[in-house]
Amino acid sequence: MKILVINAGSSSLKYQLINIDDESVIAKGMCERIGIDGRIKHTAFDGREYVEEAEMKNHTEAFKYVEYALVKSDAAVLKSMSEIGAVGHRIVQGGAIFDKPELVNEDVIEKILELSELAPLHNIGSVQGIRACIECLGSELPQVVVFDNSFHNTMPPHAYMYAIPYEYYEKYAVRRYGFHGTSHKYVSAKCAEVMGRDISELKLITCHLGNGSSITAVDGGKCIDTSMGFTPLDGLIMGTRSGSLDPSVVTFLGEKEGISYKEMSELLNKKSGYLGVSGISNDDRDLQEKAAEGNERAKLAIKMLDYQIIKLIGSYAAAMNGVDAIVFTGGIGENVDVHRAAVCKGLTYLGVDFDFEKNAGLRGRIAELSKPGSKVKIYVIPTNEELSIARDTYALVSGK
Ligand code: ADP
Repeated sequence: MKILVINAGSSSLKYQLINIDDESVIAKGMCERIGIDGRIKHTAFDGREYVEEAEMKNHTEAFKYVEYALVKSDAAVLKSMSEIGAVGHRIVQGGAIFDKPELVNEDVIEKILELSELAPLHNIGSVQGIRACIECLGSELPQVVVFDNSFHNTMPPHAYMYAIPYEYYEKYAVRRYGFHGTSHKYVSAKCAEVMGRDISELKLITCHLGNGSSITAVDGGKCIDTSMGFTPLDGLIMGTRSGSLDPSVVTFLGEKEGISYKEMSELLNKKSGYLGVSGISNDDRDLQEKAAEGNERAKLAIKMLDYQIIKLIGSYAAAMNGVDAIVFTGGIGENVDVHRAAVCKGLTYLGVDFDFEKNAGLRGRIAELSKPGSKVKIYVIPTNEELSIARDTYALVSGK
C-alpha cells in the first residue's frame, strides 16, 4: 500500500509518499509560504525534481500542487492519486484526549480544533491539511491522525503536573504534554531491536537534538518523563527557543521592558536559544564554525546545550533508577560528533565507556558508540517520523 504522510503547519505542508510494503520513500516534498506567496519543491525516489514558485492562497491550493507533482510533473511517480491507499497526518497537540492514532472523522477534527488553544499555529495548520486532503481526494479515502505527544501520555501525574494551583489543571488542562513523541517512540523501539532485547525490560534515554530538542525517559517501552512541557518551549536550549528558565525572568523582563505576552512569546520562541545567546545563528553548523574561530558566545551556546543534556540524562537516570542505553537522534544528535563526545565525557560516572574514535566523523547512520564492556550503551539512531506515521496509519487502516 502507498501511504501519503502529511505534516502541515500554519504556512507549510510537507509530504512523503511511502510504499509500506518495503518501507521505501517514493517521493517527498514541501510547499512553503502558503498564504504568503508559495513554493513547492518535490523530489522523486530517483532524484528527479519539480520546483515551482506559485501562488498558494491556502492549503487546498498547495495540495493541488502536490497532486500535480505526484501525478503530472516531470518528477511524477503515480499514474493517479487513486493509487494512494491512505493518508497519515502528523498532529502536534493531541492533549490528554488522544493517546493513539485515530481515523479522521468530523468528531476527531472538532476535537483537534478544540485542542488548538494549546498549540494554535500547529493544530489549525494540521486541520487545514486534513481538509485539503478531504477536498482533493474525497472523504472515502481513509485518513489517520497521529499525535506528536501521545507517546508521552503514559507519564504519571507526578511527572506531568506543574506545582501551580490545581484549578488551572482542571480549568485549562495546564500540564506537561511533551512533543517529538513519534521520534522518541521510533528510536526507542529501534534501539531495543538493535540491542536484540525486549523493550519491556529496558531503561532508555532518547535525546532528540535538532532545531527543536527534547529528551525522554523510556522505561519498559513507556515514556515516564520528557523535557518539553505544556508547549515545545520547555527543556533544553534550542535553535531559537529558550528552553527552561525561571518564570520570574518573564515577569521581570515584562515589567522592565514593557513587553506584552504576545511579544514575550515571540522573544522566547523565536529570538532566544542558540540565536539569542550567540547573536549569530540558530543553526549548530554556523555556531561550530564561529566557535572554531574563537567566538566566545558561540562557544557558550554550544556548551550550554551539552551541559543541559548531561544534567537531563542524569536526572532521567535517577528517575528510572538506572539506564541501559542512551540514544542520540535528530539533526544534531545524528550528525554532530563533538556534541556526542562532549556529552558522553560527562557520563563516565554512569558507567559509559565511549568510543571517541568510532564517534569521530560519524553521521546519519545507526551505530553503537560505546565500547563492548560499557555498562551503559550509547547509540546513534537516525529518526524517521514519517515512516513511523506511515506504519501507524497502515496498522489502523489494515487492522494489523
Ligand atoms: P528540526 O528540529 O527543524 O527537524 P533538524 O533535526 O534537521 O531540525 O536539526 C537541525 C539542526 O541540526 C541544525 O542545528 C543543524 O545545524 C544540525 N544539522 C542537521 N544536519 C546536519 C548535518 N548533516 N551536519 C551537521 N549538522 C547538522
